[in-house]
Amino acid sequence: MKDSNCIFCKIAEGQIPSAKVYEDDNMLVFKDIEPKAKVHLLAIGKDHFKLLSEMDEERSRLLSYMLEKIPAIAAENGCKNGFRLVINQGEDAGQTVFHLHVHILGGEPLPW
Ligand code: 5GP
Ligand code: ZN
Repeated sequence: MKDSNCIFCKIAEGQIPSAKVYEDDNMLVFKDIEPKAKVHLLAIGKDHFKLLSEMDEERSRLLSYMLEKIPAIAAENGCKNGFRLVINQGEDAGQTVFHLHVHILGGEPLPW
């Protein structure tokens, strides 16, 4: 399901351009517009939901699928020596886009 007000749904549908590095029927990976590391990618599912706390069985399957795909996608995009995954949830974490996404950070040794 899509949310017509959501920028990541718009990116998934190609209405907002992005630097895509991977796409299939279930997910999309693109470069973060304000990278916080040498490599900073965002992995999103094509299904819109906001928060990790909204997970159900179907969404768990989607997230699990994404986690399965991410290591190869990261390695192919400059994270040969490892990477860090981050999911921000809510205000204290500084979440700004309310479409569940996994940050993939790497390409250099990361501080903490
Ligand atoms: P959050 O803080 O919600 O976990 O992360 C949202 C991320 O999305 C931020 O790192 C921000 O730079 C990125 N972002 C926001 N708008 C856009 C956009 O239009 N295009 C791309 N490629 N990244 C975006
Ligand atoms: Zn969305």
